[in-house]
Amino acid sequence: MPSRQPVLHHQPIVSLDDGAMVGVEALVRWRRSESELVYPDQFIPVAEETGIIVFLGLWVLREACRTMVRWQREFPRDPSLTVAVNVSARQFAQHDFVEQVSRVLAETGIRPDTLKLEITESVSMMDTEYTVEVLTQLQRLGVCVSIDDFGTGYSSLAYLHSFPMDTLKIDRSFVAQLDRGEQGRQIVGTIMNLARDLKIRVIAEGAETSEHVEELKTLGCDFAQGYYFSRPVEPAVISGLLAADPELAGSARGSECDALPA
Ligand code: C2E
Ligand code: MG
Ligand code: MG
Repeated sequence: MPSRQPVLHHQPIVSLDDGAMVGVEALVRWRRSESELVYPDQFIPVAEETGIIVFLGLWVLREACRTMVRWQREFPRDPSLTVAVNVSARQFAQHDFVEQVSRVLAETGIRPDTLKLEITESVSMMDTEYTVEVLTQLQRLGVCVSIDDFGTGYSSLAYLHSFPMDTLKIDRSFVAQLDRGEQGRQIVGTIMNLARDLKIRVIAEGAETSEHVEELKTLGCDFAQGYYFSRPVEPAVISGLLAADPELAGSARGSECDALPA
């Protein structure tokens, strides 16, 4: 295996309805040597600063879409598996970001509604007018939009209503608070209520225990990811999980990007 290159790991996203894997989040790592991986917290900030993130981000997007198309063909499901890709502030600010996404869609042949772009709440609030404009264009391409690490930034409620987004990801710090009983439940419950008002679906990050999963189900959360289900793993491991996971054709659970019924 060549060293000193980026690699993608994937973490399953699971429906809390029936436990099926509905998609993955692509998470980049840097392979420093055959046995050593460097994690994004250690190199994404530098890549942002130097501008390298623009090339790295495009590589991640292309590679994540290519891999997902392969899984969709090998493991057809209804609804189709989805892939979530993180977008950094600098990538998002590029004047041709929407064209880049459009090109990758055409090159890889991925169905746009099975690609989900994650932008963090703090990026979405940097220039709200620009954000609304870009998110609208992305949705016109048919791509889904997700607000990542929700609850850690300072969203303006007024803007949230005008943001064209499909899902919201509750930051794992709030899921961890579920261990603290009623207070933690109230925080997650408040975010769930907000999402219901906005008619969007919620994915909880950082579900680590069966208690987290049970609480999230009780609070009406649709989807989750976390160490309880699986850590981020190499593509071959995902293929194995998909092969073992029974096909749920025609399932009534809906896709993560479907709007909630009115
Ligand atoms: P994120 O997008 O919020 O991704 C979720 C992070 O939480 C991942 O860390 C994942 O491994 C971790 N995680 C998932 N489940 C659990 C759990 O149950 N417990 C705990 N403690 N952690 C869990 P990772 O892979 O180290 O990524 C960290 C951050 O780096 C990501 O946060 C994302 O903001 C950024 N990142 C990762 N890949 C990319 C990329 O391709 N492009 C950009 N721009 N950013 C990326
Ligand atoms: Mg993310
Ligand atoms: Mg997150």
